[in-house]
Amino acid sequence: MLAYQHAYHAGNFADVHKHLTLFAVTHYLLRKKSPVTYFDTHAGRGRYPLDAEETRKLEEYRQGVAPLWEERKALGQSDPLLGEWLDRLVQAQREARPEGKSQLTVYPGSPWWLTQALRPQDQLSLFELHPKEHDHLSGQALPTNARRIHGDGLEGLKKRLPVATPRLCVLIDPSYERKEEYAEVAATLSEIGRKARHAIVMIWYPLLPAGRHHVLLDEVKRAGLRKLWRSEFILRDPGAASHGMYGSGMLVMNPPWGLDEMLNQTMSLIRARLAPQGRHESGWWVGE
Ligand code: SAM
Repeated sequence: MLAYQHAYHAGNFADVHKHLTLFAVTHYLLRKKSPVTYFDTHAGRGRYPLDAEETRKLEEYRQGVAPLWEERKALGQSDPLLGEWLDRLVQAQREARPEGKSQLTVYPGSPWWLTQALRPQDQLSLFELHPKEHDHLSGQALPTNARRIHGDGLEGLKKRLPVATPRLCVLIDPSYERKEEYAEVAATLSEIGRKARHAIVMIWYPLLPAGRHHVLLDEVKRAGLRKLWRSEFILRDPGAASHGMYGSGMLVMNPPWGLDEMLNQTMSLIRARLAPQGRHESGWWVGE
């Protein structure tokens, strides 16, 4: 079953939460020169033009990145991380339309955010299983140390562990079309923990009324993994009658020191702008 296409959701509140977390983590990794191997296990298309037919169906970016883009000057002045992130978004628009006005026309996906951090000494592997999504990704210019792999991301990652570089950073962002994926992600995190104990791993999960993310969270705790920090951006309480995603979660193994403080500040600004009735909660899921 590969029905999910991220273009329907590009630039929504969950993308903002996930890509800001990713941007903040790479910000810390860039402080040291030693090489990093990056894996993006579920890469998607890489770039999402906002006028694509799929994106125009739901226009979720209007409750996500668009309001932040509109207020980018003021937001950038109040928060350095958000300011830098929004500057990168401006850069993505220029790349898409070099002669165009500063308008939001494209939303960059995780491969783009990761290539922003990629230096000559680093490596990036981008896995995508859907043939059409992989074709989109293949059509994009990427640095030579970024490899696109048409295949299963979790299996591909496990086969490549441990890595040759001193540092490893992984983004796991499945579509969770199959409910087994929550347990598969937990099992993959355990294997990373065994073979590359110091890896920084970011896992995105949806908050849905069925509460399946608890399988993932409970499983990693049971497996005895340590240093797991989580951040949840909650739009509204999941009422009994509610359906659909009510929030976005990020679980980070081995978060860089200071990440929590930095993200809490940025997410509180974003929450106030995108979800005045919502909340952002963070803290250790499993401590050291
Ligand atoms: N990470 C992307 C981003 O932030 O821009 C979005 C990824 S989207 C949520 C999930 C992607 O995983 C979809 O493009 C889907 O086709 C792909 N996918 C589904 N199962 C997969 C698997 N087993 N291995 C690799 N990719 C898979």
